[in-house]
Amino acid sequence: MSDIIVQKFGGTSVGSDERIAAVAQIIKKAKKDNQIIVVVSAMSGETNRLINLAKSFGDNPDRREFDALISTGEKVSASLLAMALNSIGVKAKSFSASQISMKTTDQHSKAKIIDVDGEKILSTLEEDVVPIITGFQGVTESGDVTTLGRGGSDTTAVAIAAHVNAARCDIYTDVDGIYTTDPRVVPEAKKLDSITMEEMLEMAGQGAKVIQIRAVEFANKFQVPVRVLSSFKDGNGTLISLKEENMENALISGIAFNKDQTKFTLHGVEDTPGIAYKILGPVNDKDISVDVIVQNISVNGKTDFTFTVDSEDEEQVKSILKSKQSGLDYIDLLIDADIAKVSIVGAGMRSHAGIASKAFEALSNESINIQLISTSEIKITMVIEDKYLELAVKTLHKAFNLDK
Ligand code: ADP
Ligand code: ASP
Ligand code: MG
Repeated sequence: MSDIIVQKFGGTSVGSDERIAAVAQIIKKAKKDNQIIVVVSAMSGETNRLINLAKSFGDNPDRREFDALISTGEKVSASLLAMALNSIGVKAKSFSASQISMKTTDQHSKAKIIDVDGEKILSTLEEDVVPIITGFQGVTESGDVTTLGRGGSDTTAVAIAAHVNAARCDIYTDVDGIYTTDPRVVPEAKKLDSITMEEMLEMAGQGAKVIQIRAVEFANKFQVPVRVLSSFKDGNGTLISLKEENMENALISGIAFNKDQTKFTLHGVEDTPGIAYKILGPVNDKDISVDVIVQNISVNGKTDFTFTVDSEDEEQVKSILKSKQSGLDYIDLLIDADIAKVSIVGAGMRSHAGIASKAFEALSNESINIQLISTSEIKITMVIEDKYLELAVKTLHKAFNLDK
């Protein structure tokens, strides 16, 4: 039996009937050597259109109905692609999440995949039919439709690849691979031939939206080789390598950034054991992920506690912190949405001192103030005012010679 390859096509790749026809040709060609399972996103712009439509009857639509609506884009592209394949003599069948029992948790709009019916997919392959699966969505135990968060089709694809033991998962998109930073922001960005899994975890985690972080986590957990490549032109793309070493041997592999961030500061909270848990426990209970966390030294038993969250979670965090039940005693709650995070990522950081100071110097030369800093072994994240984001990314990219 030949290897199974999962191919995922993003929104731009299936954005028109011409693009769908082109994708059908890619699948037809790949099918000569391998067994192909396909995962599709909605046609480009469609998910945004549905999200706007959902706000027709108020800014806070019912979460169940919201997911039921915004998951429909993928059904359209899946069936259109199946039709395109059938028209060129390749047997194909579209499948929705419920048809393959893509079971998820019931956290609407950020559901997590629990299990999938691999048998259904494999028996379709055995009939020599290409399964075309709707990305981005699942069903709860009770049969309600959920979605996996923006960019979630990547995760659908890698989860299926892991489940059927695929030899590789190919993520086809509108760029020809993973770059040192978003090539739309820095035209001098360079394409990488490969990037290590741990570097990609940090890049995606810090905002490089070329692949969803959950997809990289799945790939890491189940050791699925993933490749990112273009559906518009031929090429090998970028391999997210399962091996430890960085083949390109660079100190810094890339720069990721995220503009959609909000900073919360509780000014004058009691500095007692358990205070961090008291603040962040209820936030975590709502499945809201918290990043850069800073607690200051205390003065007279009071301290300042700061953290960042995705802007889409701002309202929810605000209401948690302001609710009487939280029992939190603070002088002031400061909320700043005009911030952004910029991160430099590289496994080479581990063995080299001076990376941080070089980054700080570069930003200081442009008079960009750093508000918060957080680090891991292979990453430095800096929170800055959002209007300086593009300048900061370009400056750091140059300072670390990533354009060379
Ligand atoms: P798709 O619809 O195919 O899922 P996305 O828009 O989600 O595509 O992701 C592809 C986009 O990711 C690119 O067009 C690019 O602007 C952006 N991007 C951000 N960071 C990077 C990076 N480091 N390398 C390549 N692309 C990146
Ligand atoms: N269509 C969804 C989105 O726009 C999922 C995806 O493209 O991966 O976020
Ligand atoms: Mg995407």
